[in-house]
Amino acid sequence: MGMNKHINRRTAIGGAIAAATGIVAAQPASARQGYPKKPPRRGEYVIRGGHVVSVDQEIGDIPRADVHVKNGRIVAVGEKLSVRGAAEIDARGKIVMPGFVDTHWHLWNSAMRPFMLNGDPDRGYFNVTNVLGPHFTPTDTYRATRLALAEGISAGITTVHDWSHNVRSPEFADASLRALVETGIRGRFSYGWAQRGPLDVPMDVEGIARTKQRWFADADTTNGLLHLGVASRNVVPGQSPRGAISIELAHEDWGSAREMGLPITLHASPAGLVTLLEEEQLLGPDVQLVHPTLTTAAENDIVAERGTVWSMSSIGEAGRGPAEQIQYYELLQAGALLGLSVDSSSIDSADMFSAMRILYKMTTNRLGPDTGITHRHLLELATIDSARSLGLGDEVGSLTPGKRADIILVNQLDPNMAPPGDPATQLVSLAQPANVDTVLVDGRILLWRGELVDVDTEKVVRDAQQSAAEISARAGWPA
Ligand SMILES: [Zn+2]
Repeated sequence: MGMNKHINRRTAIGGAIAAATGIVAAQPASARQGYPKKPPRRGEYVIRGGHVVSVDQEIGDIPRADVHVKNGRIVAVGEKLSVRGAAEIDARGKIVMPGFVDTHWHLWNSAMRPFMLNGDPDRGYFNVTNVLGPHFTPTDTYRATRLALAEGISAGITTVHDWSHNVRSPEFADASLRALVETGIRGRFSYGWAQRGPLDVPMDVEGIARTKQRWFADADTTNGLLHLGVASRNVVPGQSPRGAISIELAHEDWGSAREMGLPITLHASPAGLVTLLEEEQLLGPDVQLVHPTLTTAAENDIVAERGTVWSMSSIGEAGRGPAEQIQYYELLQAGALLGLSVDSSSIDSADMFSAMRILYKMTTNRLGPDTGITHRHLLELATIDSARSLGLGDEVGSLTPGKRADIILVNQLDPNMAPPGDPATQLVSLAQPANVDTVLVDGRILLWRGELVDVDTEKVVRDAQQSAAEISARAGWPA
């Protein structure tokens, strides 16, 4: 991110910025003075002349097409749309596609990057978050969440599932939600627990109820963009570095979540866990399981039958060793609903291009090239399938008239992308976050020509650095 990207933009885009009044032709970089620094306001505009990858079965790809957006909603997608009086965004040389939908991401720990040290087991992900998590304040969570969102939006992610497993008091949930609302992202906030908190008491039902009342009683509080969930503690004792609750306590916690009408999410990689949850009759369409790397064929069928969804974090899961393999192909065959996810941006990049790429390669490597899995499947996984898995399939995940305008523009003419060929191949094989040019969430432009809008990126970074230093000082660790 940051400076490299900035320079990259200046040279590669060449000033092809649309004024609110009409398309401005591509200009040399030196002629950029006088062009609007700010994007068009939320309202009505047409994204003109891009290579539309709608991920909508009926619309498909259209090599040169327009997308008409009004009041946060997609009005029309097609060639040479006749629209009068709307602002125009020049999308020539760019892929226009739905934003990426992340389905599981611990945004709170992104500020822990300085403490991760490859090759030192004490400085691995679990130990760092376990040791430093208890020393967080709500301010630290707010800053880390802002940092993660700055990364995510710059990388084309328009929906996140904030899997918040260091909620030490309701004020931590407030801090996360304030960052999410201020940033303008769409998604789910799943209220979890406190790192190193007690494992023999129920979850913070009161805090969850308070959060529900404060932030979700009126949809306008989150601009209609967020919904609430519950992140469950692990339920198989002895198999998680974070510890686990008993199955009896899981019944109690999940029962409370269901009484409040909240979806449940669970890290579920241990072998046999799906069988246990099925025996306990805990599975349902309101449950998301994370990390399908050790499931059996029978378990894959159970999950599909119950309507339970899986989230796959391919970048992290790729490093779990030969015994753990992502059951992507098998779960697709079983008919399960699947999503892609970032997991932990303290150790892995929030890069959905890489997440798609690595999952494609791992699947091909494991099962050979004849599975029928193509780049298109990965693109669907990262957009519409992920949206469906969060219950947002009717709202976002494809460029379909009537859906909310969560749209990204990806530059096809950057050196790593040009000359442009098949867009799915470009996106899965070649693209990187630096190619993301413009990001809209609900019709609001959050990234404009590679720069975050209304976010002081330098301050966000500085604040995260300060938090990292303060947390480390409070913990007296690492020495
Ligand atoms: Zn996770």
